[in-house]
Amino acid sequence: MLPHFDLDTIKFGTDPQTFERAIALYESGKVTHYEDDAYGCSAIVVGTHPYRVFVDARHYDRGQCDCYLGQKDVLCKHMVAVAIQAVTLGEPLSDKEKKRVDEVVCSGKIGELTKEHLASVKKSIAGAIRYIKAYTGPSRKWFIYQSSLCEGVHRLAAIICELPVSKQTAKLLIDLLLRLDHKLQFGTDDSDGTVGSFIYEVVALLEEYVGYDPKCAEAFRSLIGKETCFEWEEPLVRYLDEGRFR
Ligand SMILES: [Zn+2]
Repeated sequence: MLPHFDLDTIKFGTDPQTFERAIALYESGKVTHYEDDAYGCSAIVVGTHPYRVFVDARHYDRGQCDCYLGQKDVLCKHMVAVAIQAVTLGEPLSDKEKKRVDEVVCSGKIGELTKEHLASVKKSIAGAIRYIKAYTGPSRKWFIYQSSLCEGVHRLAAIICELPVSKQTAKLLIDLLLRLDHKLQFGTDDSDGTVGSFIYEVVALLEEYVGYDPKCAEAFRSLIGKETCFEWEEPLVRYLDEGRFR
């Protein structure tokens, strides 16, 4: 069976603690009797007790586990461990594959992206932003919806952390913020602040960019006169007002 999800889906869609615990189960060989077919994969995961686990071939976070959480329909580490087994086929995971990026940090490298690299970064941003969608469903789907927002934000964070610092990449980030802002104003239900706090993190990153290279502030010009949903643009526009950049 080829699962319809990959390691990134699992990594970015699962909360950090559950993901880490699932990795530990997987790496210590606790996923046993693994089998799969067109519908999904099943295994016995040896935790406090041996648990019988099934994971849907299409959605790694759907299935069943007879542990305490699984019985309450909560995604548990056993299901995530089986999903990992399904995508890795038992191969060891590299440190990079295991590493989650949960916050935006500056690469500290100064420079521009090549034309080809810029195009591919734009493409991955567009891919990640698709997870941040408008919410129209019934309230019982809210949990799944929220995990999609988290997945989108974590995918974006992973892309952003790799970017070199320059006016070019600052502009890319401003465009991203404006797109996210537009989504918040038109239909994305960000009640738990997932997207909002991400925006603040990127604003702080852009301030750091200016510390590395003052020319980055030129990218903030497009924010002049914009009304954003919680005035996140203010600290950036101030760089222009105060003449810190000429
Ligand atoms: Zn479980």
